[in-house]
Amino acid sequence: MKPFGVKSMLIPMDATFYVHIEFKAKTGGWSVNLPFLCSKCGLCCTLDDFLTAGKLKSYPPNFQAHIRTHKLYEELGKRWAADPVKYDRYITQTPCPFLFDRICSIYEIRPEGCRQFPNTSFGMLTQNCESLNRFKRQLAVLKQGKSTKIFRHFVETPIISVQYTKKQYQRCLAKLCNAGMTEAELSLFCEFNKKTF
Ligand code: SF4
Ligand code: SF4
Repeated sequence: MKPFGVKSMLIPMDATFYVHIEFKAKTGGWSVNLPFLCSKCGLCCTLDDFLTAGKLKSYPPNFQAHIRTHKLYEELGKRWAADPVKYDRYITQTPCPFLFDRICSIYEIRPEGCRQFPNTSFGMLTQNCESLNRFKRQLAVLKQGKSTKIFRHFVETPIISVQYTKKQYQRCLAKLCNAGMTEAELSLFCEFNKKTF
């Protein structure tokens, strides 16, 4: 068996986060990864402070989108300077102006906070994200009655390797299915738990 924490594979996909769960057992520890899958419902783009969520990233650089974004930042800055109270009202009552038909029009350069959401202190507390609510239920059933250590990771780094027996893995799958895991989440879970040794 490899020791815990050995980094193994890099899964190309939309950025997301996952938790690496280590289970303690008399017969030796084992582990699985539980990934978060965003359903792209766009709801978080209507929450407070949509555009104050950190710097922009672009892969590859999209200068047109950068220019549009910076113009908008400037415009928002002017509104704030003119009347902070009106600005607060605007920013809490208006969905993000980059959201069109529930799709982010600057997705490839969206701010870091949007990229990370709900993998932030504020994000983890939100009640509004159905995917997050399911993720929390899934984590709870996996942890139930077990001594565990949980590590949260963002996907831009290689995925932590896992170690489990066939029986342990099948029990996890059964629990996750009972907890309402969707087919898409199940398939991502399988991707994140491929053994590479
Ligand atoms: S509310 Fe949740 S599921 Fe919907 S887009 Fe935001 S992170 Fe994704
Ligand atoms: S920039 Fe995109 S991802 Fe971020 S809040 Fe606006 S629409 Fe949503």
